[in-house]
Amino acid sequence: MWIAESIDGFRTQRRALSGTVGLVPTMGALHAGHLSLIATAAEACDHVVASLFVNPTQFGEGEDYTRYPRPEADDLAALRHAGVMGVFKPTVEAMYPPDTPICEVRVPALAEELEGRCRPGHFAGVCRVVAKLLNIAEADAAYFGRKDYQQWRIVEAMAADLCIATRIVGCPTVRDADGLALSSRNQYLDAPRRQRALGLSKALREAKMLIEQAGETDPQAVEHTMRQVMTAHRVVVDYAAVRHPTTLAQLDCIEPSLTGGVVALVAGSVDNVRLIDNDCMGVAS
Ligand code: AMP
Repeated sequence: MWIAESIDGFRTQRRALSGTVGLVPTMGALHAGHLSLIATAAEACDHVVASLFVNPTQFGEGEDYTRYPRPEADDLAALRHAGVMGVFKPTVEAMYPPDTPICEVRVPALAEELEGRCRPGHFAGVCRVVAKLLNIAEADAAYFGRKDYQQWRIVEAMAADLCIATRIVGCPTVRDADGLALSSRNQYLDAPRRQRALGLSKALREAKMLIEQAGETDPQAVEHTMRQVMTAHRVVVDYAAVRHPTTLAQLDCIEPSLTGGVVALVAGSVDNVRLIDNDCMGVAS
């Protein structure tokens, strides 16, 4: 497994690969969710390359950029074990050379609400770094977790509108047995807080039951129930929303004509640990 720290170094190695290439962008602190993206990429592509980069531009002031876990040796061992061909591990200076005019990449129609409202500037940072990574990697496909549902939809829209040739693939969320979505931030949770964090996945399960089994068609009723479940777990709720699965638009009614179903998205904090989760659900027939 080769490791490149410069853009030119990565490009040289990448262009020497023959066959198809799948890119898996990560911020490290790898867990089974990341590894599932690598496995999906490996099934579809001849080679998998991954990036390890804690991207400063997507963290807001007071967020966890400086304390974000960076277990680099473990991450490299996990990537090697997963059969990754090459790793792009740039420095901040390589990705953001000082004195370079900044380019803004935004998808306002998808990015202003939900996470975008709670974390101003977050998606501008995500779009900028993902656009760079896609241009650097020149991959056939890039793999993103649906765990970050809004991010996946934004990246997909950005790549389509900017005519980026890389196919954007969304992969299912990997969960622990109790339902908690795997996240690098879960390691901030001690046992009691981890129990409280289950409020997010339980809220989604309740929403799914309401929509698919009880036939609830009022998004606000579902949102209200999700908030109640989270609050009962002492999660401080940022949002609990039922939205259109691709446009993320608010819905007046969960109509059977929504053949793609709906997506329920939740976010909240357990003390100072912020967590997000989501699930897609069909409509009762
Ligand atoms: P991160 O390192 O948090 O930036 O995540 C890198 C990629 O892994 C993103 O596309 C995430 O959506 C994805 N990811 C994170 N957690 C999970 C999970 N539990 N299941 C599937 N994909 C995930």
